[in-house]
Amino acid sequence: MATATLALLLLTLQLGLVIAVRYLGVSALFAWIAARRRPGTYRPADPARRARLVAQVRREIGWSLLSAGLYAAPAALAFAAFARGGTRLYTDVAAMPLWWLPVSVLVYLFAHDAWFYWSHRAMHHWPALFRAMHAVHHESRPPTAFAAMSFHPFEALSAAWLYPAMVFLVPIHVGALLVVLLIATFMAVTNHMGVELFPRAWVNGRFGRHIITASHHDLHHSRYTANYGLYFRFWDKLFGTDSGLSARVQPPFAQDG
Ligand SMILES: [Zn+2]
Ligand SMILES: [Zn+2]
Repeated sequence: MATATLALLLLTLQLGLVIAVRYLGVSALFAWIAARRRPGTYRPADPARRARLVAQVRREIGWSLLSAGLYAAPAALAFAAFARGGTRLYTDVAAMPLWWLPVSVLVYLFAHDAWFYWSHRAMHHWPALFRAMHAVHHESRPPTAFAAMSFHPFEALSAAWLYPAMVFLVPIHVGALLVVLLIATFMAVTNHMGVELFPRAWVNGRFGRHIITASHHDLHHSRYTANYGLYFRFWDKLFGTDSGLSARVQPPFAQDG
């Protein structure tokens, strides 16, 4: 029993390290891209603004590293169960029809999106819940690419269980799960980077107008009562909380000094 607990702790530590390194690497990459595109955002000329930004990024990294540890714990439990064959995770592509590969990715993303939209709305609806769970994330005004996992531990825990629980219920190929995690990381980082990565025509286009990018989420960080979604805009549109896109993160960046 003691050995199993120790093994689980070690696995949590290893996964936490992987999540932390992934977060730091991807955030640093997109912060660098954003800084090249919009130097005023990441290196303001005013020393006081610069000092505030450095303090903010430090805070964002601190909370995010804590979140990495919290995400790792339920992931380690699921991983240990997988090693014993106790989950619906599979490694043989032929175990399910091929069409299930992309569909499973969508199912996982839609489930995460639904959970995020409603828990996020609840945190904004009840002031006590906002203060206890979500105020930390909104300390980033405006956010940087390092705010991707900048959550209070209560908020991090409110979402950390979802994918680990889903692997017990919804079959998914290990590769497809990696794609889900890749998309989740990419979107969490780029939606906070302060610069729209996608061309305006794509963001407003037939496909892009249903997807959340920096233009959509940036508005949430300045106007708290709108744009609650994570990946897709349909919940916001369906329930009248979609306030459109922020011009702040789209070039030309007129406000930069
Ligand atoms: Zn919020
Ligand atoms: Zn955010």
